Amino acid sequence: MNGNPTSQVLDIRDHIFLIDCGEGTQVQLRKYRVKFSRINHIFISHLHGDHFFGLPGLISTFQLLGREKELHLYGPEGIKEAILLLLRVGNSWTSFPLVFHELKETEPEVIFEDAKVKVMTIPLKHRVYTNGFLFSEKHRERGLNMEAVARYRIDKAYFKNIKKGKDMVLGTGEKIPNAELTFDPPDPKVYAYCSDTAYDETKVPLIEGADLLYHEATFLTSEEQLAAKTGHSTAAQAAQIAKKAGVKRLLIGHFSTRYKDKTLFLEEAGEVFPAAELAEDGKVIEV
Ligand SMILES: [Zn+2]
Repeated sequence: MNGNPTSQVLDIRDHIFLIDCGEGTQVQLRKYRVKFSRINHIFISHLHGDHFFGLPGLISTFQLLGREKELHLYGPEGIKEAILLLLRVGNSWTSFPLVFHELKETEPEVIFEDAKVKVMTIPLKHRVYTNGFLFSEKHRERGLNMEAVARYRIDKAYFKNIKKGKDMVLGTGEKIPNAELTFDPPDPKVYAYCSDTAYDETKVPLIEGADLLYHEATFLTSEEQLAAKTGHSTAAQAAQIAKKAGVKRLLIGHFSTRYKDKTLFLEEAGEVFPAAELAEDGKVIEV
């Protein structure tokens, strides 16, 4: 979901990550039937209202829904104070733990990691302290060829090792190469989220080769100076970053409301990087 305010839902390997939480996010989450109970981690890029004013309301809704699970919030230093102040003045404490991960590093850092996914910050150049986020899948196990394991009558007890890539030695001493018993797993996917930011090539090595890059494109080239002044990018600049980083696809969004015709963004980006798409409300992208 996108536009201005910004929020995105990332469904990655058993996780539903919420990225930014502008005003109206929970209305959109309901509209697109995202299960609130599956949101356990929320990543906030910076503390401008269009990226986090939806958070207090969403936290209150979690409370109303009787949430008990921890909610992890990642965002710039100060996010804890801002949220706790609102809860305090409203005397509306949550009965579930709010776990704040306040960020202040200006170098990329790993802020979440489990067996399947890693999340790193992408330091961005904006008017206030801002991070984008790099979501990387980890390597999956090899897929079992059920037909082959049945043919060789291999016991389930060996599946774990086979999925790790080991060959199988049968009771007869016959060695079955792993390639006969498994399929290659899909390549791990990488998603880079960059909003809000001025044109800045220092992030290029970090997002190199990503399957999908979301990059803000607040302005068109005619307002390039205004973009630089306000810490934002033009569509062509977003495309330039995508091209330099050699990403597979580019998604642009965060368009200024001054422009009526959004197709101009696609035109200007497409001239530099053809695999560009517009972020729109409710748009679902399969990577
Ligand atoms: Zn901003």
